[in-house]
Amino acid sequence: MKLLDGKIAIITGAASPRGLGKATAHLFAEHGATVAILDLDADHAAAAAADLGAGHIGLACDVTNKDDCIAAATAVVAALGRIDILVNNAGITQPLKLMDIAPENYEAVTDVSLRGTLYMSQACIPTLRAQKSGSIVNMSSVSAQRGGGIFGGPHYSAAKAGVLGLTKAMARELAPDGIRSNAICPGFIATDITAGKLTPEMKAQVLDGIPMGRAGEASDVAGCALFLASELSAYVTGSEIDVNGGSLI
Ligand code: NAD
Repeated sequence: MKLLDGKIAIITGAASPRGLGKATAHLFAEHGATVAILDLDADHAAAAAADLGAGHIGLACDVTNKDDCIAAATAVVAALGRIDILVNNAGITQPLKLMDIAPENYEAVTDVSLRGTLYMSQACIPTLRAQKSGSIVNMSSVSAQRGGGIFGGPHYSAAKAGVLGLTKAMARELAPDGIRSNAICPGFIATDITAGKLTPEMKAQVLDGIPMGRAGEASDVAGCALFLASELSAYVTGSEIDVNGGSLI
């Protein structure tokens, strides 16, 4: 018996070729889940789903648009019958300093991570409530915990800290319905968000702050998502799990 046998999982922002969402989708599929990949571009989402094998689906969905989220959740239920797991993974970064954040920067970054997590959760919750079960996994960041970093600006830290608050509020409100809500705080993970953006000096500085002495892999985060999505974490809700090689020690 695999950990996610028969489960239906939605993962947002999972079409990125080296991303955390894609690694999570592959691990979930290996463990028996049928996965719906949601991303901005329909063709990319469909290709990423095809890459998982037969039966998985890819749909266009801009998580900042509530109608898109509702349409995607409705399409998943129509195609796959139910929703058991939602991974709110879509996110963007902007390496800006505090005083350089313009209104449009603030909106773009908070819209994808925070508004998107709220809207996509709202779109799935009626189905999860009707089933009296479900696991919501939200992608926050070490930036929420220590404020900023090389890649995300202060608005990114604020958005990801908002994700932590939303995770706990959802956990409290949804627990009586049998729905769990948890967050993952990845540290420095090698993906397209971080690729090619570091000088050798910056990389040395980042690695110096990681007791385990290496950047994380997307699979490190996927493993944590699998734990939170599965019954292994049946009594875990409202938690935030650090996947950062010890960066906060
Ligand atoms: P990535 O850039 O590889 O993937 C992000 C995906 O989100 C892309 O496929 C993109 O098309 C999609 N996306 C962007 N806006 C969207 C929208 N409005 N609607 C739907 N999809 C949208 O990023 P990643 O490194 O895989 O990061 C995944 C998540 O993990 C993000 O939330 C990120 O903030 C978070 N995170 C990453 C790191 C890291 O080091 N890579 C660290 C901490 C947190």
